[in-house]
Amino acid sequence: MELHGSHFIAGSLHPGKGEPFRAVDPVSGEEMTPDYFDAQSGEIDEALGRAEAVHVRRLAGNRNDRALLLERVADGLEEAGDRLVERAMAESGLPQPRIIGERGRTCGQLRMFSSIIREGSYLDVVIETALPDRQPIPRPDIRRWMQPLGPVVVFGASNFPLAFSVAGGDTASALAVGCPVVLKAHPAHPGTSEIVAGVITEAISACGLSAGLFSMVHGRGHGVGEALVRHPATAAVGFTGSQAGGMALWRIATERDAPIPVFAEMGSVNPIFILPAALATRGEAIATDLAASIRLAVGQFCTSPGVIVTVRGEGGTDFCDTLGKALSSEPAGTMLHSGISANYRGGRQRLAAIPAVEVVAEGPIGDGPCAAASALMRVDGNRFIDDPRLQAEVFGPSTLLVECSDVPEMLEAARAIEGQLTATVHSDSDSDELIEHKSLVHLLEERAGRVVFGGVPTGVEVGEAIQHGGPWPATTDSRFTSVGTAAIARFLRPICYQDCPPGLLPDELRDGPAVVSRRVDGQWEEPGSS
Ligand code: NAP
Repeated sequence: MELHGSHFIAGSLHPGKGEPFRAVDPVSGEEMTPDYFDAQSGEIDEALGRAEAVHVRRLAGNRNDRALLLERVADGLEEAGDRLVERAMAESGLPQPRIIGERGRTCGQLRMFSSIIREGSYLDVVIETALPDRQPIPRPDIRRWMQPLGPVVVFGASNFPLAFSVAGGDTASALAVGCPVVLKAHPAHPGTSEIVAGVITEAISACGLSAGLFSMVHGRGHGVGEALVRHPATAAVGFTGSQAGGMALWRIATERDAPIPVFAEMGSVNPIFILPAALATRGEAIATDLAASIRLAVGQFCTSPGVIVTVRGEGGTDFCDTLGKALSSEPAGTMLHSGISANYRGGRQRLAAIPAVEVVAEGPIGDGPCAAASALMRVDGNRFIDDPRLQAEVFGPSTLLVECSDVPEMLEAARAIEGQLTATVHSDSDSDELIEHKSLVHLLEERAGRVVFGGVPTGVEVGEAIQHGGPWPATTDSRFTSVGTAAIARFLRPICYQDCPPGLLPDELRDGPAVVSRRVDGQWEEPGSS
C-alpha cells in the first residue's frame, strides 16, 4: 500500500489540508514523503462522533468478535512485512532487530488480550439473587459486571513506534473491552502509524465490525491532542510521553464540564539502591549490568535507570570506574527525534550546571543530527536529598550516581524520592543485608509500582502480573497499569442491574450454567458448572 498522508476516519481515508509536515529520518536528518497534516475540527468531530455512535448503539461486537479482531490485527502486522519494519526503522532510527522484536511484542500483546477477553473473568461478574422473604426487608436481585467506558483517545508514544503506538497496548486494551479508539499518531512516525492504521481498518472490515470502532488522526503541535481530549464524546485518555504533555492533557480533562480520566504514563528516574555488602562483593558486575541497561535503546525507555544510590565505602571506587568506562567507551547512538535529543542535551546541561554535580564520564558522540553521548554524573547524598531538581528525568543514556555517607542517609534519599514506575534494590544474598534493611524496601513500596530485586528495571514483562504504573508523577493514577492484561481495567466501569427482567440480561449474568467465572450468592462458579 502506498502511503497517502491521510487520516483514517471510521474506515475512510481523509486527505489532509493546511500546513504540511513530514517525518524526519533521525539518522540522516532527511525529510520523508508524503506530507501529513494536522486534523481539522470537522475530522475530529467525525471520528469521535462515529466512535460515540458505536458505543451508544452497542456496535463494538461481543467478546468473541473482538478477540477475533485483535488476532486479525496481529496477523495483519506480521503480513505487513518488511515495508512496516523499514518505515519504522527510518522514522525512529531504531535498528532492525529492535523493530522486529517490538512487532513481536505488539502481536503477542494483541493475542494475549484476545485470550483474556475470551476467558471473560475480567468482567468481574457478581450476582446476589433476590431474597423476597428476608426480614426486615426483602433483598432485591442484584447483578454487577464491568462495562466499557466509551470512546478512548490514545496518544501514540514516540519511544515505542509499534508496541505503544497505533496498535499498541493502549489501543489493544481499549478495543478488547469494547471501547472505540480515536488515535493521535505521534508526529515523529506518521508513516509507520499510517501502515498500522491500515491494518486495523482492514481487520475491522474483515471481521464485519463497525468502522467507527477505530479512527486515527495526525497532528503536530498541541492543538489536535487538546481538541481530542476536550471533545464531549471522549470518555478516557491513554498517554505515554513527557510529564509536561501528560499533565497538560490531565488538566484539560479535569477542567471539562464532564471530567474524564487520563491514564498518563510520564517520567521516572527508576532509582537503583545498592546496599554496602552488595557493592563490596558484586559492585563491578552490577556496574556492567547497569551500564547496559542505561545504554539500551539509547536510554529511551521509561524504565531506564536515571539515579543510582550507593553508600561510600568498599567497592565504591571500582563501581564508579567500571560504570563510567562502560558508559563512555563508545557513542551511545541516535535518538528518536530532534525534540528528544534536544531535551536530552538540555536536561544534561541543567543537571551538570548544578554546582554540587560532578561530571565523572562522558562518552564520544557519533554522527547525525540526533546523535547522543552517554554520561555519568555524581552528587553527594545530602545534596540529592535537599534538591528536587536532581530528580528530574533526563530522558536518554545518562545517570546520576548519588553517594551517601551511610545507610541512614541512603534511607533519607529513598524517602526524598518521588513516585516512580520502578525501584531496584541490590543486596548481598549471602548475608541478611536485605532483611536488616527491610525498611528500605518498605520506603520503595510506597514510591514505586514495581520493586525489582537484584536486576535491572528495563525489560518490562508483558503478562498478567506486571504492574507498570506508579504514584505521581510517574503516572496520573497509580491504581492502574499500562502494560499487561490488567491494563484493560482502565477502560471499564462497574454497573449493576437491580431486578432486571431475565430476558434483558447478557449471557454472562443469566441464571443457568456460567459462561465466565463468577461469584453467585457467595460461591464461585466456573464455566460449565450450573
Ligand atoms: P511528548 O512531547 O509528551 O508527546 C507525546 C504526544 O503528546 C505527542 O503526540 C504530542 O504531540 C502530544 N502532546 C505533548 N504535549 C502536549 C500538550 N501539551 N497538549 C496536547 N498534546 C500534547 O513526548 P515525546 O515526543 O515522546 O518526547 C518528548 C519528551 O517526553 C522526551 O524528551 C522525554 O523527556 C519524554 N518521554 C518520556 C517517556 C517515558 O516513558 N517516561 C516516553 C517518551 C517521552 P504534539 O507535540 O504534536 O502536540
